[in-house]
Amino acid sequence: VLYIMNTKIAVAKGDGIGPEIMEAVLRIFAANNVQLEYEFVEMGKSYFDAGHSTGMTAAAKDTIEKLGILFKGPMETPKGKGVKSINVTARKVWNTYANQRDFRTLNGVETVFSKAGIPINLTIIRENIEDTYGGIEHLLTYDVAVGRRIITRPGSEQVIRYAFEMARRKGYTKLACGHKANIMKLTDGLFLEVFQEVAKEYQDIESSDIIVDDLCMKLVTHPEKFQAIVLTNLQGDIVSDLCAGLVGGLGFAPSANIGDNISIFEAVHGTAPDIMGKGIANPTALLLSGILMLRYMGFTKNAATIENALLYTLEQGVHTGDFGDKAIPSSGTQAFADAIIANL
Ligand code: NAD
Repeated sequence: VLYIMNTKIAVAKGDGIGPEIMEAVLRIFAANNVQLEYEFVEMGKSYFDAGHSTGMTAAAKDTIEKLGILFKGPMETPKGKGVKSINVTARKVWNTYANQRDFRTLNGVETVFSKAGIPINLTIIRENIEDTYGGIEHLLTYDVAVGRRIITRPGSEQVIRYAFEMARRKGYTKLACGHKANIMKLTDGLFLEVFQEVAKEYQDIESSDIIVDDLCMKLVTHPEKFQAIVLTNLQGDIVSDLCAGLVGGLGFAPSANIGDNISIFEAVHGTAPDIMGKGIANPTALLLSGILMLRYMGFTKNAATIENALLYTLEQGVHTGDFGDKAIPSSGTQAFADAIIANL
């Protein structure tokens, strides 16, 4: 069901470093003869500034809804009270209920775990719509602020089911549910209850649950013990950034926002305004997101070839300035992409 037969996708280059890293990734796709057509859509901060409150034109929305897949660069969040993030709006508008983030050890990207020879290969599935992200907050008095947290059975079920299906597809043998049901007995309690119900249908996957604070401790002491973890929105947000740190930081963190009709593939990082236009941004996270997208769409051979070329390039020590061996001079964004292309 997950394989989309479309060969045309919508692409939004994004703001800040977005256009630079998107150019690098699409050049790598072209060099590997990926049979995808792109329809570039008008989406981002400048469209918000031009009066489009969702950060995209009506034509962009139509195109994305027609094509079902959006490959996007990072987008700047407009400043000001009451103004919503373009990225969060897009996830809500299209009900992309599962946020999948893959984290793995990459040779050439040095971390405390790689130095200790401990390989990491784990996936976080974060619920992407509910929880505290509705932003339903108010002041009860000048000194007391109240926020609402919403967890629903259907909302929990769709993301948990996705997590089990993904675990099967990736050949994982276990899936854990992270939660705080010992304290939030109704909200996290409901999420955990749904997890345990759905788990009965997936006897081939070993299911377990773990309290989120204990999970954080175990992730930083024994990350190799985990394969896949499903969590509610806010806890998943925090735990997935923790996992990004385990494998070398935001430059290596891809993500997929999966919905039934529309899915969005993007890097976890933002627009990096401090380095935009300098040609030094690391395109790896966007490339890894693109590889996730290719696999999702069934372009498994392209995905494997490009992934291997990336891994080999990293192993050779080729790197952008944000990581890698300082003794080897760093490459700019496009030179890094050229090195990957040469290794395809
Ligand atoms: P950021 O991720 O843009 O930058 C944090 C730090 O990481 C900066 O020092 C930056 O230079 C560095 N960095 C990030 N990506 C990098 C890359 N590919 N290569 C090298 N270095 C990289 O976070 P921020 O500064 O908090 O946010 C900037 C803007 O991006 C904000 O408007 C924010 O709302 C937005 N944002 C968008 C998304 C998205 O589009 N999904 C995600 C996060 C933040």
